[in-house]
Amino acid sequence: MRVWGLTGNIGAGKSTVARLLAQRGVPVVDADQIAREVVAPGTEGLREIAARWPQVVSEQGVLDRKALAALVFQDPRERAALNQITHPRIAFEVAARLRALEEAGQPVAVYEAALIIENKMYQGLDGLAVVTAPEEVQLARLRQRDGMTEAEARARIAAQLPAAEKLRHATFAIDNAGSEAELAAQVERLYSAMQTKAR
Ligand code: ATP
Repeated sequence: MRVWGLTGNIGAGKSTVARLLAQRGVPVVDADQIAREVVAPGTEGLREIAARWPQVVSEQGVLDRKALAALVFQDPRERAALNQITHPRIAFEVAARLRALEEAGQPVAVYEAALIIENKMYQGLDGLAVVTAPEEVQLARLRQRDGMTEAEARARIAAQLPAAEKLRHATFAIDNAGSEAELAAQVERLYSAMQTKAR
């Protein structure tokens, strides 16, 4: 089975591309969703988080993801501590799901994650699609989707590798500056490339 990575900066449109690919029948393993599952109520991951940051877990055992994100966003040491709890669990789960897809006979699967390039994950992939959008478009989408202030959105964007840097690693670049219809046309071409092309 060939595994393609799908990445892009916050608000650029990665999840929208993933949704279009899934509609086309391509299985998508979503690192973001798995990251939520490994800290869901009742998990060992959440117990470890509660032990270190009791203030971000409610009495009912539910994680306040926004509070945790704010906490670790400001402090690299806290972020590293959180990553030590979550990353091995996410990696294990991603590998298990890809294995299951392979065993089911899927010819190609997509691994969707924000940090494929930062984590040097792309080295093990058969191809990498990178979604970009101009910063002003990212800003507008984040303000609309997440209700972020301009300052919050700019800080999140600035914390990621610049899009130009990510594009250097792309097998297939998707420019999502335009309409959803324009995006869908590019996803069609990506879909074709995924049927044939390897890195
Ligand atoms: P994140 O990294 O934060 O998950 P993302 O890269 O996955 O972001 P999406 O969630 O796909 O980004 O898109 C961000 C927002 O912009 C969403 O609300 C989505 O519906 C909207 N959006 C994406 N592409 C377009 C487009 N071409 N035209 C209009 N809106 C769009």
